[in-house]
Amino acid sequence: MNVPIRSIRGMNDILPQDVHYWHKLESTAEDLFTSYGFGQIRLPLLEKTEVFTRAIGTATDVVSKEMYSFDDRNGESLTLRPEGTAGVVRAALQNGLLYGPVQRLWYSGPMFRYERPQKGRSRQFHQIGVELFGAPGPDADAEILMLGSRLWNSLGLRDLRLEINSLGNTEERAAYRDHLYTFLSAHKDELDEQTRERVERNPLRVLDSKSPEVQALLEDAPLLSDHLGEASRQHYGQLKRYLDQLGIDYHENPCLVRGLDYYCHTVFEWITGELGAQGTVCAGGRYDNLVELQGGKPWPGIGFAMGEERLVELLRQNADVAPAVRHAYLVAVGENSTESALELAYDLRAGMAGLNLVGNLNGGSFKAQFKRADRSGALLALVLGEDEIRNGKVAVKFLRAANEQLVLERDEVSDWLRNYIDTI
Ligand code: ATP
Ligand code: MG
Repeated sequence: MNVPIRSIRGMNDILPQDVHYWHKLESTAEDLFTSYGFGQIRLPLLEKTEVFTRAIGTATDVVSKEMYSFDDRNGESLTLRPEGTAGVVRAALQNGLLYGPVQRLWYSGPMFRYERPQKGRSRQFHQIGVELFGAPGPDADAEILMLGSRLWNSLGLRDLRLEINSLGNTEERAAYRDHLYTFLSAHKDELDEQTRERVERNPLRVLDSKSPEVQALLEDAPLLSDHLGEASRQHYGQLKRYLDQLGIDYHENPCLVRGLDYYCHTVFEWITGELGAQGTVCAGGRYDNLVELQGGKPWPGIGFAMGEERLVELLRQNADVAPAVRHAYLVAVGENSTESALELAYDLRAGMAGLNLVGNLNGGSFKAQFKRADRSGALLALVLGEDEIRNGKVAVKFLRAANEQLVLERDEVSDWLRNYIDTI
């Protein structure tokens, strides 16, 4: 006998009993993005590997350790997308979406990273993201943060902490990187093996180290904010004034650097305290150099991506998300009852807003069918017995309420159901 095959480690199934959380998240995000003027873009899951190596940077964890890359049958290196932004920029360039008025795009779907699976971290995970191109100023940063803030509100999620920082422009960041490198090199002996390796590969990443020893050492490290030029400081200051004015709370975190190389100026994360170590539910920032890295003329951009798995977990814990599915179960017993039931179901389903109809399959006695109806969670049973079929009637039995059973004319059922739905 064959042994059942299991899914790939870190690649999880999403089951019907959970899917209403996903729908709630995705439909709320879509409605909100649409109301802010964002249009959806749908992209391939596979791209040429270079799309990511150029954009994200070869020194990052994502590119150096986490990508699912393979050669296709022609020997071309392809990669399952680890994130959305690089592909959006590739597509925006290829399809001539840039260089006009401001462009607002959003996407959603699975991403793939070869990471150690744990709570809130999987190898196939889902992101919803937005990208805004063509606006270099802090007003665009504010717009993007407003969008996030409003989304948490619409989802009924409170207590998300917004952390922000400025990375400055490329030159400022590079200069700071050198200062930090010098500082960290001088303290090499106090660093663990992994951090020492980070210092060589990507010193900025040492700033968001989780190790208490490293964090203690960093208290004396040079600060990025001291290396920002006048224009960068103004940009950041103006953003903070906009946020103050909008009443959006934020915390400045000088160690926030983000994992991808393409960021500059404003970077941010929305963090929850309720999911343990994997508390960042949304992260993003400005990427004014990315379009150029991808082979276009320079063009500014800013965006964020949120982790759907983590948000679904938060919704499960916090928000009152009722399963959207409510249904009636059609019970039918007796001669010609299957034909009669199929016909009734076909007609009713044409006009049953707000209530679904599940038809009994595999026959069975009244008792067996009612048991199935009950176990299915149905609100009502619609009943076709021999009498009802002969007389053109349908009986309605309430499975979750104490109401008396009633009998309707067949052609009244649809209207009755619609009224009933409005009363509950
Ligand atoms: P982390 O520090 O948690 O690894 P990251 O900096 O790698 O996050 P981004 O690339 O900015 O994350 O992705 C944005 C969001 O996508 C994250 O804040 C998180 O919510 C989600 N995310 C990233 N990687 C995973 C993963 N492996 N599993 C589940 N969600 C993820
Ligand atoms: Mg990561």
